[in-house]
Amino acid sequence: MLTLLRKIIESVIAAPSLQEAMRNLVAKTKESLNADCCSIYLAEPKENRFRLASSDGLLAEAIGKTTLPYGDGLVGLVGRKLEPINLADAPAHPNFKYLPEVGEDCFRSFLGVPIVEQRELLGVLVAQRKASKKFDESDESFMVTLAAQLASKIAHAQMLNRMQAAHSFSGPIRGIAASKGRAVAPAFVWYPQLDMDQVAIVHTDDIFTQIELFRQAVFQVQLDLDRLMLRLNQTSARSEVPEIFEIYSMMINDSSFSEKIVRAIGEQKLMAVSAVKLVCQEMISQLATGGSRYLQDRAVDIKDVAQRILSKLAHNQAAKYNLDSPVILVADEVSASLLMEIPTRVLKGVVSLKGSVNSHAAIMARSLNIPAVMGVELPLDAVDRRTIVVDGNRGEIIVDPDSAVKEEYLEIISRNRHLQELVEKEFCQPVVSVDGQRVYVALNAGLNVDMKPEEKRVIDGVGLYRTEIPFLLQRSFPTELEQENFYSEFLGAFRDVPVCMRTLDVGGDKQLPYFRIEESNPALGWRGIRMTLDNQSMLMSQYRAMLRASGKFENLSIMIPMVTSAEEVREARRLLDEAFSEVSEEMADAGRTLKYPKFGAMIEVPSMIYILEDIAPLVDFFSIGSNDLTQYLLAVDRSNSKVSDLYNPYHPAVLRALRDIRRRLECLDRKVDVCGEMCGDATGMLLLLGFGYRIFSMNLSCMAKIRYLIRRIDVSRVTELVEKNDLKDIGVLREQLTEYACSQGLQRFVCE
Ligand code: PEP
Ligand code: MG
Repeated sequence: MLTLLRKIIESVIAAPSLQEAMRNLVAKTKESLNADCCSIYLAEPKENRFRLASSDGLLAEAIGKTTLPYGDGLVGLVGRKLEPINLADAPAHPNFKYLPEVGEDCFRSFLGVPIVEQRELLGVLVAQRKASKKFDESDESFMVTLAAQLASKIAHAQMLNRMQAAHSFSGPIRGIAASKGRAVAPAFVWYPQLDMDQVAIVHTDDIFTQIELFRQAVFQVQLDLDRLMLRLNQTSARSEVPEIFEIYSMMINDSSFSEKIVRAIGEQKLMAVSAVKLVCQEMISQLATGGSRYLQDRAVDIKDVAQRILSKLAHNQAAKYNLDSPVILVADEVSASLLMEIPTRVLKGVVSLKGSVNSHAAIMARSLNIPAVMGVELPLDAVDRRTIVVDGNRGEIIVDPDSAVKEEYLEIISRNRHLQELVEKEFCQPVVSVDGQRVYVALNAGLNVDMKPEEKRVIDGVGLYRTEIPFLLQRSFPTELEQENFYSEFLGAFRDVPVCMRTLDVGGDKQLPYFRIEESNPALGWRGIRMTLDNQSMLMSQYRAMLRASGKFENLSIMIPMVTSAEEVREARRLLDEAFSEVSEEMADAGRTLKYPKFGAMIEVPSMIYILEDIAPLVDFFSIGSNDLTQYLLAVDRSNSKVSDLYNPYHPAVLRALRDIRRRLECLDRKVDVCGEMCGDATGMLLLLGFGYRIFSMNLSCMAKIRYLIRRIDVSRVTELVEKNDLKDIGVLREQLTEYACSQGLQRFVCE
């Protein structure tokens, strides 16, 4: 019963529309309860009535039409009492009302439960049986659970309907600030691809039109692929990607593939979508049962190609793709690969209904310097092509801003552009504070970045290379050789400076499409070093690839994420020793030597604060991931929009932890840097300088600004302010730091 319940709930959550959710629910509930009928009546408060909205068992003609005044019948009674009513013989009840048009003459038992969300009655869920026998208690609790689930789906749909109906979005809509900056441009709504499973098998006599439509769709997909490959080929950073699209292209051009579909349309008189589905499904099942990994990969390719063709056929999205002018990308869930499909030239902002600050899309948006807001509730259809303001600093969007608001934002954007030009002018100057302190500013990256060679030389290295990002761009786990190639390309691109590569940090909200980890509590689950230590061959392969890649450049250091215990560090280090001997032996055979990389551990899990002394002898350096450290210290999921207000890196506990870590590591004589988002923020940087940190790693988008800021700061003055404060009232400290920054002419950095 529990499994059935879970399945129904999952189908309600996953349903693309309320109608479909209700249809699934009534059909599956009827079956699970061995009932003869299950129906949903939705409340229409303005008209004081219920409407039969969905049913499996009542006459189809009545669905959507039959209404019942509030208070009438058993449904009305459930609504009035706001509690379940369970009867063996419904027609015998005084409240029973006979509705001839719904065809319920044959039903006797009745179980009705109210659908309530935040004390508001949204409807009534009803199950009926022909036999005159009461539903039992477990049936009742089954229905109550389903009604609660349905309630949130209905409330959400109603909210979207209200917005859509009003077609006016008064005021800002809040979400999560995922990437800083502001943008104003028309919305380009990306609809998810049509899922092959949703396609029905439909026949037609007009086969010529269907063949023509199919050929056009193939042509459009081919054009898309050509464009994509051209763009990706121009970007060295993405050189791994085009291969995937070449395979797609070959498949589409393979005449036997197209001809099979054309034949299916002609011989079976099928709609083009149905023929694509049938033919591709058959090919997929043949390949999938072939057993070999290669064939299974090809099955995935066919599915992808089929999805692209189906989407063209269904939505003809190409017509919307007039992406020659700036757009704000809006989608249910913006993924990293979707971001890559939109030319950066026109992509001005990102709005994602789902998603988090830590998703790869958010990380990529930050590294591309594109403002992004995630976790926004919006009806996609209603915003398409309307002007949108994305305020990535406040985590808000405004749809159809009035002219004053729009002007204000355009003004801010233009001022920021000037500021960026100003700070970039002195990018290459040394980062030394007013009082002569050298501060090290390194880069966070995951892809090769768009930097001038002279800039690459002056930065203080790459402090965090997130290896999960190149993994994310693959279709399956990259081989050791593929990894070696992309690490080597990156190490070569930054050959003059040290590069710290972090071993794979997947799990949590960072999911590889080909290796999904399903967990009920993923942030506390199988992620980072926990996962790779359980998959030692994966870790070894990564180590070896990094070491081989570093052979020529000797600028590699390695660190491990999500460390919780000294045992993990010891084990990860032991494996690195093993990988090192393997690779150095290989190199010795070729007459070359290999340098042992510096090895570090990230401080992200609070347990680390209390075992620094145990870990210090095992590592050369530490790196503080303030994003995760904040999440775990405050027990606030950094990807959950409902608690985003509580996610505060300036919480006294986080700041005291940062202060204490620094003090303790000073005695342990180990280097430490900070690589979380905090260092890209001006106030965050001042606080960290005040605690004594001197090595930072940040996104490229913040780098010029932070370098400029440090050159104008007297670090000893900032330290004095920070040390004087007991970190109880951060508000006062922030004010003092802001005041000081303003006195140095830096108000634009700290006041926005
Ligand atoms: C962090 O947690 O601060 C960090 C730098 O790692 P990531 O954001 O990739 O989890
Ligand atoms: Mg982290």
